[in-house]
Amino acid sequence: MEAAWAAACPWAKAFKDLVFPIFCKQCGVRLLTEENGYFCARCWEASPRIERPFCTGCGRPHQQMVGLGSLSNFPCADCREHPNKHLRRIFAPALYDGAVAEAVKLLKFHGRERLAAPLGELLVDFAAREMDVTAYDLVVPVPLHSVRRRARGFNQSKLLAAAALSAFPGAVLDESLRRIRPTRTQSRLKGRSDRRHNVRGAFAVVGDAVSGKRVLLIDDVATTMGTVTECGAALQRAGAQWVDVLAVALAERSFDAE
Ligand SMILES: [Zn+2]
Ligand SMILES: [Zn+2]
Repeated sequence: MEAAWAAACPWAKAFKDLVFPIFCKQCGVRLLTEENGYFCARCWEASPRIERPFCTGCGRPHQQMVGLGSLSNFPCADCREHPNKHLRRIFAPALYDGAVAEAVKLLKFHGRERLAAPLGELLVDFAAREMDVTAYDLVVPVPLHSVRRRARGFNQSKLLAAAALSAFPGAVLDESLRRIRPTRTQSRLKGRSDRRHNVRGAFAVVGDAVSGKRVLLIDDVATTMGTVTECGAALQRAGAQWVDVLAVALAERSFDAE
């Protein structure tokens, strides 16, 4: 609403910039545009992105091999040794760092719904560049348990899925994947096995909308892959043909972000 009246009346926007200055959450520089309202263009652009070559399993960049043929995508050693049985591929446009990480936290823990738009844009741009966008029938957000969704007021993954949907012609948003029991926030749990245990059996699909369908699961941040793997398993049990993941950001395996 704010943006609409500001666009309609440049004087009103200039006045607002003067009276209610906003500052980049990352570097503190004063922002004079309404572009995303939280970060300056420099910090947003400087936030580390994932470029080829990256792993065709977990989506992480092959850091040692940058420059070794930017067109070659191949699995990392981890994915070769332990291929994920429930997910075909994981894609992400960014590393969980810098302004993107800050934006995810503001969206998720501080209710800044507006940030779903620039984060969704990262997904759309990445999809156009790196993904077969016709390979999906359903775009499915990682669900929140209803209690948490009510407390938060929204599901950030659903906002991101809705923002990314335009990149996938022929795909529709589907919410038949549910979180059937409350889980603890993954980042509060230290070990990988604790995280696995926390989400085990936490998801189920209602109805048969997923049967035979090619699914793209949308998440905000993936760390140990515990959550998305459990979602993948539930979607497979419901008959999904394949499940890929598109997350905004990948965190270091040891990092607490999920
Ligand atoms: Zn900045
Ligand atoms: Zn990998």
